[in-house]
Amino acid sequence: MKRIILALALLPLTVTSQTKFAQLDVELPTPNEYRTAGGAPGHNYYQQKADYKMTIRIDDATQKLIGEETITYTNNSPDKLEYLWLQLDQNIYDQNSDSKLIEIEKMEDFKNIGDIKKKLFYYDGGFKVESVTTTGGQKMKYAINKTMLRIDLEKPLLPKTSISFKVNWWYNINDRMAVGGRSGYEYFEKDQNYLYTVAQFFPRMCVYDDVEGWQNKQFLGRGEFTLPFGDYEVSITVPSDHIVGATGELQNGSNILTAEQRKRFEKAKTSDSPVLIVTQSEAEAKEKNKEKATKTWVFKATNVRDFAFASSRKFIWDAQNVKVNGKNILAMSYYPKEGNPLWERYSTKLVAHTIKTYSKYTTDYPYPVAISVHSKWIGMEYPMICFNGGRPEEDGTYSEETKYGMWGVIIHEVGHNFFPMIINSDERQWTWMDEGLNTFVQYLTEQEWERGYPSRRGPAYMIADYMRGDKKFISPIMTNSESIFQFGNNAYGKPATALNILRETIMGRELFDYAFKMYCERWKFKHPTPADFFRTMEDASAVDLDWFWRGWFYSADHVDISLNQVRWFQLNTVNPDLEKPIAETTEKAKDKFIGDTRNLTSIKQTVNEADPNIDDFYAKRNIYFVDALDKKEYEEFQKKLSPEDKKLLSANKQIYELTFSNLGGLVMPLIIEVTYADNTTEVIRIPAEIWRQYEDKVSKVFILDKEVISFRLDPFLETADTDLNNNSWPARVQPTRYELFKQKQTGENPMQRQKKVDELEGN
Ligand SMILES: [Zn+2]
Repeated sequence: MKRIILALALLPLTVTSQTKFAQLDVELPTPNEYRTAGGAPGHNYYQQKADYKMTIRIDDATQKLIGEETITYTNNSPDKLEYLWLQLDQNIYDQNSDSKLIEIEKMEDFKNIGDIKKKLFYYDGGFKVESVTTTGGQKMKYAINKTMLRIDLEKPLLPKTSISFKVNWWYNINDRMAVGGRSGYEYFEKDQNYLYTVAQFFPRMCVYDDVEGWQNKQFLGRGEFTLPFGDYEVSITVPSDHIVGATGELQNGSNILTAEQRKRFEKAKTSDSPVLIVTQSEAEAKEKNKEKATKTWVFKATNVRDFAFASSRKFIWDAQNVKVNGKNILAMSYYPKEGNPLWERYSTKLVAHTIKTYSKYTTDYPYPVAISVHSKWIGMEYPMICFNGGRPEEDGTYSEETKYGMWGVIIHEVGHNFFPMIINSDERQWTWMDEGLNTFVQYLTEQEWERGYPSRRGPAYMIADYMRGDKKFISPIMTNSESIFQFGNNAYGKPATALNILRETIMGRELFDYAFKMYCERWKFKHPTPADFFRTMEDASAVDLDWFWRGWFYSADHVDISLNQVRWFQLNTVNPDLEKPIAETTEKAKDKFIGDTRNLTSIKQTVNEADPNIDDFYAKRNIYFVDALDKKEYEEFQKKLSPEDKKLLSANKQIYELTFSNLGGLVMPLIIEVTYADNTTEVIRIPAEIWRQYEDKVSKVFILDKEVISFRLDPFLETADTDLNNNSWPARVQPTRYELFKQKQTGENPMQRQKKVDELEGN
């Protein structure tokens, strides 16, 4: 992309260029000293830093969280800041929260008493901010605007200076099973215990940068979090029999863990398979004997953008070492017995596999621990720790959906460590920058976990159904998070697919992998924007992708290319001994007009048949007869030909002219499988630029050595073509097994069915 002079903000929906191959100059912001035209951080790139010291207490009797934090905020920008903005994410649970008010509702949405209770705000949520003070205890002026808190500074915070201040707060932790949410508690009725997964639990600094100023767009529930990096020291007080997993490294293990637990923990550090630190029977014993005393766990984390933790006496805990480029990382899982047998068997191994594979494609995992916590239904990510669903039946069996659901969600949420926790994009604005990129690497990781892994998203053909859908409900990927229709397909599936297409089809694996890794290395521990990604992918590969970003990210078009017409030619050799018999045979083989055929029998005799004398020279002439003059003329023609021309004329080349139409709007390469009469095949690849002038219809001539029996577009399902019926010449028809008798659904999973089979067979 070229430099342009005008400074324009990102205007994702105003595609003003005339053609699909117009450069993206207008849509992308002007490169500057903070962000280069090549997609890298500029020579004056800066970012702010926010360090937190926190003391947190969970009251297990009332499910309250009480906190105090000291934030040290460092202004690395060239600007003086008159005020600071903090995020109060818990306020979406406030009685008057916008996220509730703007929910579009229909009476049909209320299916049971729980839905009515939700609507009535029976739960008193939201931050109760008690005080904002200087570290010396003096009150600071502040204002709360819904999910944002502004601290009005007495004196502006100058460039290259820091400020420290204190916030005290508490809130009622949400019952995640009733209210929903990314965090909260789950209550287990059978043993009367709580499992807390705690996040967005403290007032957090907003990002201030060269792109948005303060990113203080209100939290409405979907567009996630935009956070600066910093160092954390967090003390968490919980019942003394709880096990706590958190962002960062445990600082006081020697006081807080039993001798046995410490021994197992040390063993896990060098083990390449999971070692139990708390066993299931130990966790079950604690479930019955609920401790009233408390203990304080202390964690430290360096260079992270957030902090989350999980706490419960129900936790089984295991860990193993995983090496990434020579560095040891502890992969760990925390889960209640309800997660077994799946969790003990798979969770930590999935964590280890994920950070290894992502490190290969993106950047080395930089943190000391990586944690997966069992949490019914959800999948939610934080630095070093994530909360994941996947709960088997009570009888210990599980469906294949549950298994793959659990595998997929763990890979996905652990993968979020890279996007957006390390490559720290603006989630409040762009969901695809973390979800889409993450879902793409998730696909690569799944495929390396199990051959033929049934990944939900990634392969091109799997997005076709979505792309051919009603355009009213398809947004361009470059749409703000809150306004996206079909969130999963738009923000996860489509960008992940687009990257796969770039890798497999447009750029090739080598060019793509280099450029993609370059983006990750450039922007690790920084704040990239879409333009930084688009530009790096081009700049590092020398592949002009503006048309691709324009089509796949800025439009809602889909791919539907049809093979309209095939014309077949052979070169005329001019040799009358060859050409005249061919012409005669061709003429005879022509379809006959019905009247002519009928006249052969209905007209007994024509006039010239009755009287041959009326036939003249033309009536008697055989135009297929090769005479002396034909031969002489051919000999003279031959004399004028070079040996090369002679060879070409006699080579019996088969010439095909193919015409293609772009029906869906998205331009794509033409991938054509040719099947010859001898049943051999060949694949011809034409770059998408064939559409650069004529976007609707193009034709191409192929000179081939052998006769062709069929042409087929997109034979490897790599372009997300939404209609394969117009891709073949001659047209192909696939039979469908039409079911008259549907198999009845039993409601049991295959493991339960196998138990019945075993009983029948007496096993
Ligand atoms: Zn995600």
